[in-house]
Amino acid sequence: MNIKDKSLVDVFKNKVDNSQKLVIVPHNNPDGDALGAALGLSNILRNMGKEAAVISPNEFPEFLNWMHGVNEVIIYDKNVKKSKKLIADSDLVIFVDFNALSRIKLMGQVFEKDTTYRIMVDHHPFPEANTADLQISVPEASSTCELLFHLLCEAGMRDDVSKEAAECIYAGIMTDTGSLSYNSSRPETYLIVADLLRMGIDKDRIHQMIFHNNSFDRMRLLGHALGTKMQRIEDNKAAFIALSQAELKQFNFKPGDTEGFVNQALWIEGVKLSALFTEKKDLVKISFRSRAGFPANTFSETYFNGGGHFNAAGGESRLSLDETVERFKVVLKEFCDANGF
Ligand code: 5GP
Ligand code: MN
Repeated sequence: MNIKDKSLVDVFKNKVDNSQKLVIVPHNNPDGDALGAALGLSNILRNMGKEAAVISPNEFPEFLNWMHGVNEVIIYDKNVKKSKKLIADSDLVIFVDFNALSRIKLMGQVFEKDTTYRIMVDHHPFPEANTADLQISVPEASSTCELLFHLLCEAGMRDDVSKEAAECIYAGIMTDTGSLSYNSSRPETYLIVADLLRMGIDKDRIHQMIFHNNSFDRMRLLGHALGTKMQRIEDNKAAFIALSQAELKQFNFKPGDTEGFVNQALWIEGVKLSALFTEKKDLVKISFRSRAGFPANTFSETYFNGGGHFNAAGGESRLSLDETVERFKVVLKEFCDANGF
């Protein structure tokens, strides 16, 4: 991995050194990588004697609530006034793990007007121009957390990385690579993991907290999703699961409970695209995972107002859940026919 233009590192360091009140923002529905990067960075900045607030557009999943500093995370959609004030009073804003203002939903409106200097640190392809003043975009990085650690080392800030920050960063690398099972073929990722281990992180405890700490309800929801709801289509090239609000309620759904469900259908022989449709209050959230050269991000961008990585993308639909699934079937056929899948 390389931050191609070294002057970006210099600007990053200079801006951080010369700021006292910082705001860090992960994307909407923050995952382990987004929240890990945000909290990893806020822990480091606080150790440097700075004020660093993490403002998340909405709630984060419970399986991340062990991260150091998590209790101070401000949820934008529940604290709009306080968030706006913090942003207005800050001298530097850092976006982590997203590359377009649309990824922070309503919170994006604040930054359409705000003139505070903004830095973006992200690993998604195709960054949108003008998301930030300084855009550090490295799509080959496994995760924003890996990129962040690399960036901190390049900026001479490795010694400021505490064990608590290292734990957050490790969590981001693990969650974005399925515990190093994909997007993790570059040796440098392992050198960084080794470095984090040297800092004294308790790797086994982190895995326990993230992956082996499920509620009974969540495991039953997974059973329901796989056993009753999963369907195969397009000559078994694709599989999907659609979950309604009523079903989620039946299993006492909490944010993060469906995390990873979409990966499971991809484990079926021959399946190139897996989709998870989750009915929310005013829209259907969609997750895509793919393999064998199927561009999940292009598919999502073309039909579902979304984007993401080649093999892991997301989008949304304003149709009903049933209509969304029907449309998915139609456009998938169209896409497969047009692209020879
Ligand atoms: P997930 O399925 O885990 O929510 O998201 C998978 C990937 O797609 C993540 O990298 C995430 O940032 C991206 N992603 C998820 N939802 C959206 C969306 O609505 N728009 C865009 N552009 N990217 C998304
Ligand atoms: Mn990420």
